[in-house]
This record gives sequence, structure tokens and C-alpha cells, in this order.
Amino acid sequence: MVEPKYVAPTGTSDILSPEVERRNCIVDKARRLLGLYCYQEMIVPTFEHTELFVRGIGEATDIVSKEMYTFGDQKGSSFALRPEATSGIVRAFIEHSLYTKSMPQKYFCIGPMFRKEKPQAGRYREFYQIDVELLGAEQPSADAEVIALLMHIFQDLGLKNLTLKLNSMGCRICRAPYREELVGYLRKVEKGLCRNCRERIKKNPLRVFDCKVEGCRHLLREAPELISVLCAQCQEHFEEVKKYLGVMGPDYELDPKVVRGLDYYTRSVFEVVSPSLGAQNVIGAGGRYDYLVEDCGGPPIAGLGFAIGIDRTSLAMKRSGLKGYEDKSLDLFIITTSHHLRFETIKRLDILRHQGFSAEMDHLSRSMKAQMRLADKLRAKIVIFIGEDEIRKGVLGVRDMATSSQEEVPFEDLLDYLYQKLGRKEKWGARG
Ligand SMILES: [Zn+2]
Ligand SMILES: [Zn+2]
Repeated sequence: MVEPKYVAPTGTSDILSPEVERRNCIVDKARRLLGLYCYQEMIVPTFEHTELFVRGIGEATDIVSKEMYTFGDQKGSSFALRPEATSGIVRAFIEHSLYTKSMPQKYFCIGPMFRKEKPQAGRYREFYQIDVELLGAEQPSADAEVIALLMHIFQDLGLKNLTLKLNSMGCRICRAPYREELVGYLRKVEKGLCRNCRERIKKNPLRVFDCKVEGCRHLLREAPELISVLCAQCQEHFEEVKKYLGVMGPDYELDPKVVRGLDYYTRSVFEVVSPSLGAQNVIGAGGRYDYLVEDCGGPPIAGLGFAIGIDRTSLAMKRSGLKGYEDKSLDLFIITTSHHLRFETIKRLDILRHQGFSAEMDHLSRSMKAQMRLADKLRAKIVIFIGEDEIRKGVLGVRDMATSSQEEVPFEDLLDYLYQKLGRKEKWGARG
């Protein structure tokens, strides 16, 4: 083995099989469920004008102030690799006047996001998300539906023992006086807080609840909680969300410390935590953002959504012993006993693949024994032999690998024989 000259950048990874299969399973199952809940897929750019994220996510957040990959072009414009997908979807929603359609509008987007964070287990600089947004409904039933959908996806993947944490971040009316109250409290305990939290008092006091430092967490146990000072409308909204969730089923825990790291959240916020992961244990999270569309230059339209971290979800599945994919096997392997029959072999192979069978042959002029070993390794269900004798007789040697029984099948009967043995296949390889 050679010493690699180039390696993938820190915080990125090459995703190889079978990890790729597990991730595809996550995406496939999510796509199927999103269809049941009437969501449409949207593909938005992986980079946007930096200003969009600054406006949307908030200048004082860690994401915008420290973690974005920004770059310029010759004209002096500044762009940023997307650190999250909501801003881009909201931008597209406004740009294409999608708010003129009947509400709500439901979208999802799947792809990589980028944040310049210190990499650790479950945290990468390029990470993959399934992002789900519902725009144009203020009603609490929408919150409950979105949260239930998130849990439905995890349930469908077989993940168990997850904790759904729920909180309300209030609105502009109730948050301003609360912020004052919290700042007042934090000033009193300032000496005991970490440096980051001391900075947060000035810039983004609610973010102190995200701090993982034990000393801070201890002091924050006594901190005033937004949930207890919600305005009447926010309180009523939250009560209704809980009632709807009660009807729909997913168990939840109220957690006044869930504040999420983005400025745009209002009212319902939620996180799903997996017990099988370490410090980075949130596998899905989201919330309501009733001012974001307006803040990004659109009409006053409410919205909410969530993102599922594909990397962490996959890790949680792996640690729970969930494969998510089926072991691959091959329908057919064609062995040729004579070098000059390779044209005949590749022609048959081509026909069979066009009939929807997965099929392989040897390209390295291996011996018959070695071809047989290869067929075994690929877990071929059926091996077809093409040799001089067979061609003369107008037949093919066909071996059922499960029973080791071998028989001769006339050329013209081969497809019917295979359909019977392997089940009917869709033509042109269109089967799933
Ligand atoms: Zn309020
Ligand atoms: Zn702290």
C-alpha cells in the first residue's frame, strides 16, 4: 500500500459502502414518508449571498460569527457555503413568489451543509441533512404535525429510546422583557460563567443554555425560564401544540433549556436526542420561525421546520445494530470456459441486464476456478456456463448456487427459466 499523497480535508469524510447504503436507506425512507405528508422536494444552491445567512440566522450566532465558509468573487460579492438549508428555502420561497400559492406550502431539501467547527465524533465540517419546512401556517396543529413527522421518520428507521424535547421560545412580545430578566440574572452570576457565556450576555444571552460547561450549567439551573413568562397568546399556542401531540402520540419531555442556536426561532422548538451517541447526541431538531420570511424581505408568513442530521442518524442506527440495508447479492454470474466465447458471453450478459437481472462476468481472463470463486464472493444466486459444448447443443449450463443443482437450459427457454427461479423482473432494469 502506498502512503497517500492527498487526504480528505479535516472534518470531511469519504462515505464508503456499506455506510452509503445505510444513508441511502435513511434518505429513501424519509422521502417516502415526506411524500405521505404531502411535501415537495426542492433543490437549493449549496452557497448563497453571505448577507442572507447574516439576516436570517443572526449576526451574533456562533454559526454566522465563527463557523461559515465565506468566499468572494471578482466583483466583490461575498458568498457563503450554506451552514443550514432553511434560509435558502425561505429565499427561494420569496424569490419565486411561492406564497401566492395555496397555503401551507411544504418543502424538503436533502444535501450537504458546511460549518467550520472543531471536528469531533458526530460533528463534521461537511455534514448532511434532510431539511423539512412548512410555510404559511401559524396554527399549533402544524407544529404537532411537523414534530410527529420527525418522530415518524426515526420510528420508520427502527430507532428506539429517543427523547423528544420540547420548549417554547415565545414571540417578540414576550421575549424582550424575558431577555432583560435573563441578562439581569446572568450579570449577577457572571463571575462563575465561562468566557463564552460572558460574551453571550452582551450578544445573545439565550445561547447560554447551549453551554456544555458544567459550572455554567449549574448556575443556569436557577436562571429564569422563558416558558414561565410567555405572553397569553404564546402560552395558548404551546398548550394547543401539546394537546395535538397528545392526540398524535409521540411522547415528549418539556425542557425549558432547549433554545437552539439560531436567532430566528419563535414559539415551538424541539430536539430529538439519541441515547447511543455521546456529546453530539441531537439527531434531529427544529422549530417555528414566524418572522423569518419577513426578515428575509418577504411578506409576513409564518413557518416552521426541522433538520435531520444524516451522519448522526446513521451513527445512531449503527450503534443500535440497525443495518438499514439488505446484504447485496447478485442474480447471475456468467462463466465462460473458453476465451474466444467472451463475445458470446458479453452479449448474453447485456441481454440479461436489460431484462432487469443483476449480472456480472469476469473481465480479467481468470481461470474457470477463479471465476467460480468470484461468483461465490459476489453471492451470485445462479451461475451460467457458456462453453463450446453448450454452444454446439444450443443450451446453457445453469447452476442454482443454493442447491448446487445444475441443468442444461435451451437458449430460448433461459428467460422463462430465470423468471421462474428468481421471480419476475421488470424490463430495462427498472426494478427497485
Ligand atoms: Zn409571546
Ligand atoms: Zn458557559
